[in-house]
Amino acid sequence: MRQAGKIGFARAARLALAGGLVAALAGSGRAAEARGRPGHGAAPLVAMPTLPAPDDVSAYAPASRLLAAPPARAALRPEALAPKTLAGLSAQLGPGFRCAQRGEFLIASDLPAGEFDILVDGILAYAVNALRSLYFDRPPAEPVTMYVFRETATYADGLERLFGMAPVSPYGHYAHAFQCLAVNYDTGPGTLVHELVHALMLPDFPDAPIWLSEGMASLYEQCRVEGGRLHGEANWRLPELRRALAEGRAPALGRLLGMAPAEFRESDESLHYAAARHFCLYLQENGWLAGVYRALRDRESGSPEDIGRRALERASGLPLPEMESRFRVWAADLAWSGDAAP
Ligand SMILES: [Zn+2]
Repeated sequence: MRQAGKIGFARAARLALAGGLVAALAGSGRAAEARGRPGHGAAPLVAMPTLPAPDDVSAYAPASRLLAAPPARAALRPEALAPKTLAGLSAQLGPGFRCAQRGEFLIASDLPAGEFDILVDGILAYAVNALRSLYFDRPPAEPVTMYVFRETATYADGLERLFGMAPVSPYGHYAHAFQCLAVNYDTGPGTLVHELVHALMLPDFPDAPIWLSEGMASLYEQCRVEGGRLHGEANWRLPELRRALAEGRAPALGRLLGMAPAEFRESDESLHYAAARHFCLYLQENGWLAGVYRALRDRESGSPEDIGRRALERASGLPLPEMESRFRVWAADLAWSGDAAP
């Protein structure tokens, strides 16, 4: 609650983003021109704003949590909690919500009509295509149900009414047992993309290591749209990683690669997110992330740490210690737009 002011994602900014993205989809390049920056050839360049920095990073480390089930009604059948037909979803939500189906995605939202269309046929369609083309080969076996609440109050009310639960995060969550996600859209489209990565990764790589699943999901919280692709960028999680690197507290890569979900989340969770996210950014910047993802997904047997090390070494041609020292130098020097904020 104390985060409400900070989290509020200006409606004007959301609309500006959506307008820019539609321009990108239409291939007009107007968004890049409007920002006074050159596009890359004919490809427009649109910044995708995302999660604002919380006041207290450690208190809000998880941008989202993967839930096995909404806790209060876990005994209910999945179909009752997260309907898998458009008619079922409309009946569950009632008036005030718009529902649509696009491929294997069922989307419900209380956004106004114009914004709903942009969400469904602009932002979501673009992000799904961009992410699939890079990483994900196996689609979900059943529809993914997406609840997109337009603001913090309707997000909290909706979770209570539909699932009997309070928000586990101010941003959103993905309940993998029900292939369903819920987001507070007031925190920006980056939240939706974060949860979307989880929804797309689950059928493709169900037992992905947590550094990769949360690293990639949080990588795309802050990204730009360029040439039909999403490019992750540094975000508010970076200062915590830089501080930890300077103080010798950053987790060693080998430890991060072998981390079980409980260890990732138990202590220093926000630091683990920051490290995993910016390590994924480092891999992306070097052109290795897609190769590492596939190598991990199509792996041979071994301990998680060994599998991770082999995948990284195969994609990069670098021994892990060499990659680790390069990553640390790169991360310590990395800047993000918030560095310039007063
Ligand atoms: Zn996540």
